[in-house]
Parts: sequence; C-alpha cells; structure tokens
Amino acid sequence: MSETQNTVDKRIDGKAVAAGLRKEIAEKVKVRRDKGLPAPGLAVVLVGEDPASRVYVGSKVKACEEVGFLSRNYHLSVDTSEAELLSLIDELNADDAIHGILVQLPLPEQIDVQSVIERINPHKDVDGFHPYNLGRLAGKAPTLRPCTPYGCMRLLSAYGIDPMGKKAVVIGASNIVGRPVALELLMARATVTVCHSKTQDLPAELADADIVIAAVGIPKFVKGEWLKPGAVVIDVGINRNEAGKLVGDVDFDAAYDRVSAITPVPGGVGPMTIACLLQNTLEACEAIENA
Ligand code: NAP
Repeated sequence: MSETQNTVDKRIDGKAVAAGLRKEIAEKVKVRRDKGLPAPGLAVVLVGEDPASRVYVGSKVKACEEVGFLSRNYHLSVDTSEAELLSLIDELNADDAIHGILVQLPLPEQIDVQSVIERINPHKDVDGFHPYNLGRLAGKAPTLRPCTPYGCMRLLSAYGIDPMGKKAVVIGASNIVGRPVALELLMARATVTVCHSKTQDLPAELADADIVIAAVGIPKFVKGEWLKPGAVVIDVGINRNEAGKLVGDVDFDAAYDRVSAITPVPGGVGPMTIACLLQNTLEACEAIENA
C-alpha cells in the first residue's frame, strides 16, 4: 500500500453527516416558529421493556427535542392488546399536533406488526414502512422513505458516491433495511443484487460489487477478502460481540485496507437513521400542511 493510501481516512463519518442534517432541520424549525407555525410533532410508541428498544426510543425522543420538535412518548405495558394499540394509533392519526407516528419494533407476540403498520395514516408513517410508502418507493416516486435505507443513500451522497451504473450488492432482504435499500439503489440507477440466507455463493456475488450494503445482523460476517478492492461499504449491522462491544456486520479492520470508503459501527449508519426520522417528520408536517 502506498503512503498516500495509508494517510487517507476512508471512514464515512455518519456522526458528522447526521449532525449536519440535524442542524439544517433545527434551522428550518426555527424559521417555522418565527413565522408562527407549529413545531413538527412526533409520537413515539414503545410497547414492553425490550432494553435495546428503550435505548432507541430514548435517542429518538432526545433528538426530537434537540431540533425543537414537539415530542410525545407513549410507553405501554408488555401485555397491551392489539386493540388497545390500534386505538392509540387512531387517536394519534386524528391529532393535528402530531405529524409523525413511530411504533418501535419489535412488538410483543400478541400484536400483529403488519396490522399496526397499516393502521398508521401513511402521511404520518415516518418510519416509511406502510405499503403506501413502500409502494411509492418501488414506483420511483418516494414519499416518506424508510429511515435506515434513506440514511444509507444520504451518506453515499454526502461523500459524492453516485450509485448510477455501479454494481451494488445488498446483503439482507428484510422489510426494514434490505428490501427498501435495494429499491433506493435501483432508483439511483445501480445494478442491484439482493442476497439473503439462501444465497448460494455470497463471496462470488461480492467479488465484483462496487457498493456493498450489509444488513445481516451477524457480527463481522463479511470478510475483508470477499470485497472487491476499492469497494464502498455501508455497514448497517448493530451487534454486540462477546465482550459487549458494538460491532457491525463487516470485519472492519480486515475490510479497511481493501475498500475505498467504509462506515464504522458505531458512528456510521446509526446516527443517520435518527436524523432521517427527523427529516421525515419535518417533511410529513409540511406535506400535511400543504395538502
Ligand atoms: P433481519 O430482519 O434479521 O434480516 C436479516 C437478513 O439477513 C435476512 O434477509 C436474512 O435472510 C439475511 N441473512 C441471515 N443470514 C444470512 C447469511 N448467512 N447470508 C446472507 N444473508 C443472511 O435484520 P434487519 O432488521 O434487516 O437488521 C439487520 C442488521 O441491521 C441488524 O444488526 C440490526 O441491528 C441492524 N439495524 C441497524 C439499523 C441502524 O440504524 N443502523 C437499523 C435497523 C437494523 P432471510 O431473508 O433469508 O432470512
């Protein structure tokens, strides 16, 4: 490796890009308030005591308050029925002060996730999981975009990485990350391959990938030698290793020497997910006002 390569920082700094986006949002909220317009309002609903969910909800509420949003936090007990949760969603759908509704997943087993997602008014669906919003994304006319995939795209854009004409491989096909990020990349005119647990030869799929998005949920699953030299890697994974440390789905140290750019975990996609949630809430507020 040349000296120049050694000194180049290949990290895609999600913390910095997210801070920039939050600053822009806070300025727009201030302009709204100066004009006498209401602050965008986000309702965050947590059912049960899942420790990771509590941390995520806490970060979302804090981020909301920091940009000047109205933030309402609903913490329901683990034995909440589906009917009770749907009734709260109905109330929030009808509440003019609330422009975004987020129900933190996973939900306890007595509650059907899809029924909950589909009950949220699609214009307040700031997670972007409602079939209306996913359909709009599939039809190249996005409205509220799923936050983590949207965050991945904004990171690429912030670093001047244009997916057009590139080969992109997405590892993971979940409804919340893998599938929508594949739609985002397709809309950005990449040639997209989606891999999942039944993919026969993952290293062969990755060998000529210019852009790799890893969303698997297995610590250090993607090996450095699987990556094409010069690839751009966006690591969505948030996992804890045996020592309790947060690690991604990509073996960062092994990948670093090979790639041209890579997101660290933590400090990569995670902060962008929250910033895009704020962006979606602001967009939802403006769209509802202008409807
Ligand atoms: P998920 O619902 O469990 O989906 C995992 C996907 O990985 C599935 O499509 C699965 O395939 C695939 N997979 C599993 N084993 C595989 C293998 N051996 N080879 C190839 N593919 C394999 O997970 P998720 O919700 O998408 O989350 C993925 C990771 O992202 C997790 O670490 C999660 O914590 C993290 N995450 C981070 C953020 C953020 O803000 N940074 C947001 C959301 C999630 P099948 O479809 O065949 O089962």
